[in-house]
Amino acid sequence: MAATPSSDGGELVRRSRILSSELYFEVPAYKVPVIYSSSYDIAFLGMEKLHPFDSSKWGRICRFLIAEGLLDKRHIVEPLEAKREDLLVVHPESYLDSLKSSLNVATIVEVPPVALLPNCLVDKHVLHPFRKQVGGTILSAKLAKERGWAINVGGGFHHCSAANGGGFCAYADISLCIQFAFTRLDISRVMIIDLDAHQGNGHEKDFSDDRRVYILDMYNPDIYPLDYEARRYITQKVEVACGTNTDEYLSKLDRALKVAAGAFNPELIIYNAGTDILDGDPLGKLKISPEGIAARDEKVFTFARERSVPLLMLTSGGYMKSSARVIADSIINLSKKSLITIGNGQNIATT
Ligand SMILES: [Zn+2]
Repeated sequence: MAATPSSDGGELVRRSRILSSELYFEVPAYKVPVIYSSSYDIAFLGMEKLHPFDSSKWGRICRFLIAEGLLDKRHIVEPLEAKREDLLVVHPESYLDSLKSSLNVATIVEVPPVALLPNCLVDKHVLHPFRKQVGGTILSAKLAKERGWAINVGGGFHHCSAANGGGFCAYADISLCIQFAFTRLDISRVMIIDLDAHQGNGHEKDFSDDRRVYILDMYNPDIYPLDYEARRYITQKVEVACGTNTDEYLSKLDRALKVAAGAFNPELIIYNAGTDILDGDPLGKLKISPEGIAARDEKVFTFARERSVPLLMLTSGGYMKSSARVIADSIINLSKKSLITIGNGQNIATT
């Protein structure tokens, strides 16, 4: 794989970093496998108004779930921040050092004024929230294995590879999550189901030659990142053209899941559940309805449930003002269909 370190000595260093990491910690039984921290949300000097997205969607998803009575705030799992030693599990030192340039970070998050800020502020207000989300993605695999499923209400930075960030993705949380699962969870076959509108070129580059990872990527081929090299590494490619509607999308997904089921027997599923496929999303250019998103998520959770494979979901892209509501509604639907259990006295009471 492209991720460093690649030599045998490097593998030992990687293994030792993973084994000494604090990101996997014991989560008490009364907590639910929903991971979130208020530090996920980015709101800084009006920057959130410059990028065409809702940069506090993560907190809004949780607030909707709490307001609906589905989620108790005390039951949410707060992850730790991924530290430099954790990030070095896949990222080279040189890449992490490159984030000490505000200009580089501005390019990655696509907000040019960030280039003008002192790097300490960029680190605190932009990179720190991302590192918390990375910690959440990594922990979600452990929780998924213990509980059957987990949702990180953030993460899914699928454009970042070990060596390069881009497209609002500064850290390769999916690659990190998989390396931790290989070493700490005794897992050797992972399926990535990437249903964000964009192609997941980051994890594709990182696992290009790794047969332990099966990548089903369903994406619009005519939008960012147009990474033709990485497309060669997709195990099962499903292209959905601009303007694809809900019925067409869901029937393609049905066929794709059927093929995946016949081709690979995963021990862990990473579901990158971007909502930029929503009708009206200026970036995704697809026409999927809110109900279509709920149906899509239900299909993926059902797929995992029927095979008794632990599944973790990441919210990934989709930053319209309506996205948070749509995601919350989909999680509520998963609960109604008994594909996940969050509330209703199912958890041990806490004080
Ligand atoms: Zn996307």
